[in-house]
Amino acid sequence: MKKYWAITNCRVSSDEQLKNNSLNRQRESVLKAAQRLGVIIPKDGQWSGSASSKKGNNFKRKDILEMLDYCKKHRQVKYLIIDEPDRFMRSIKEAFYWETKFEQEVGVKVYYACDDSLNGDDLAAKMMRFTKYFAAEGSNEERQRKSISGDAKAITEGRYPFRPKLGYCKSLKPGIHVVAPEIGDLMKSILLRLSAGLLSLPESLAEYNNSNYVRNGKHCGYKMDKWRKIVTDPYYAGVVEMNRQVKARNEHGLHVPLISLEEHLRIVEIVTKRRKNQNGPRKNGNPDFPLNTITLCKDCYEMEQKSGRVGRRNRGKFVGFKHGNGRTNKVYKRYRCRICGRSILRDELHKEVQEFLAMLDFSSSGRRLLEDALNRVWKAEEESEASKIIKLRNEATNIRRINNELIDKLATTNNATVYRQIEERIEERTKQIEELEDEICEIEERQNNNKQNFIDFALNFADNLGVHFFEIDLSLIKEFKLLLFPEGFFVNSNNKVYTTKISPFYRLREIKKSSEDDKLDLMVRVKRL
Ligand SMILES: [Zn+2]
Repeated sequence: MKKYWAITNCRVSSDEQLKNNSLNRQRESVLKAAQRLGVIIPKDGQWSGSASSKKGNNFKRKDILEMLDYCKKHRQVKYLIIDEPDRFMRSIKEAFYWETKFEQEVGVKVYYACDDSLNGDDLAAKMMRFTKYFAAEGSNEERQRKSISGDAKAITEGRYPFRPKLGYCKSLKPGIHVVAPEIGDLMKSILLRLSAGLLSLPESLAEYNNSNYVRNGKHCGYKMDKWRKIVTDPYYAGVVEMNRQVKARNEHGLHVPLISLEEHLRIVEIVTKRRKNQNGPRKNGNPDFPLNTITLCKDCYEMEQKSGRVGRRNRGKFVGFKHGNGRTNKVYKRYRCRICGRSILRDELHKEVQEFLAMLDFSSSGRRLLEDALNRVWKAEEESEASKIIKLRNEATNIRRINNELIDKLATTNNATVYRQIEERIEERTKQIEELEDEICEIEERQNNNKQNFIDFALNFADNLGVHFFEIDLSLIKEFKLLLFPEGFFVNSNNKVYTTKISPFYRLREIKKSSEDDKLDLMVRVKRL
């Protein structure tokens, strides 16, 4: 079978930077299209250059007239392949003029390599081509779009065409950054210890912010949200990627990584786990059934105990489940004993537990103990806040000193570009100082208001345990149960709730005070809370 030919045209505008990169990319693109079409590109059938495609220039454009001529001589040419429409023309009228002329006079189709949906003869494809030319004619976006696909190409080649990451600096090879002196070593050491669990995330941030590198003003300090992004950046494990309008990723960047991919993944795990703990998504099971595993079926529990199954191995626990009523589409929530299978409506059991809790009195000795513990917790909190304020003040002082130096420098600068750069840095630092001062104010205000609120809230909570029990966060319910009712709740055969052991905080109305030992034990646990 005779193979058809295609000719190609790659073009850069005369003022375009990185001409070679852009031309290479276009060439690759048109070659791929020729492969897809199964056509041959003759050696003398390739045009490239920087002829202007501006509106009005194209009726007599030299390269186009040559191409038309070539097609007249070589009738096996069936395609003129262009990377993108605006590489051909930047004018709607002229583009359609030439598309038509090539087709009518020499039977050659203008073919766009970048997007096959432009190449149809249907209305949709024509509309898309029209839109492209419309944009090209009117807009200055061209260079921007070119540089985006150029960036994506750099990524696939392992280069990183953007600003060097923290710890790296530019080298003679564009896009291949090298480990920077001082800060490179620091980042490597921090990342390695972070991944090995030798540093916590806050410690790693403090170490960076307190390093000489930051203190000497070579770089600004960071806050946690930004720091989190930095330490989990896969670039440090050798990955280059871009997440802009165009996404690209290459795990084999040409730069020297600071850590292995495995170490990077461990850091990601550590950082995301920490965040989870802070935001507190439930980790203690089904929020619909807070009594799961802390409520026991009395008869089955005793039977199990006789046969030696105690503690966690005891299977007499109530577990929540949902069931529907097919006719009414209603969903019922119930707890069911895992051994005998008897079940009780969720709301009914919750009500029983609340009623039982309402029967408890907060003992006066328990009340004193709690107040005491709360005060202690509060004091520890205050101390850590105070040291935080000192740290923030130091930080602000440092930045202020650097800023003053910069202002001095400004006075002696004649070069306008340098002047502007210094001005920008001063502005940046002034903003940092303002942020620090805001933060200090916030902490101080919080300190003044909160102590009494905190203690009032806690005592009120304890006084009305029955009312509040099911409002507690699920993870705390387990803690509370451990603290107040170490044996859990029991449900007898009449569905009445009781417990066998109560903490010294509380007493049933007729229960006597408990021993000193228990109190001490309890204080330890409260401190943990
Ligand atoms: Zn049972």
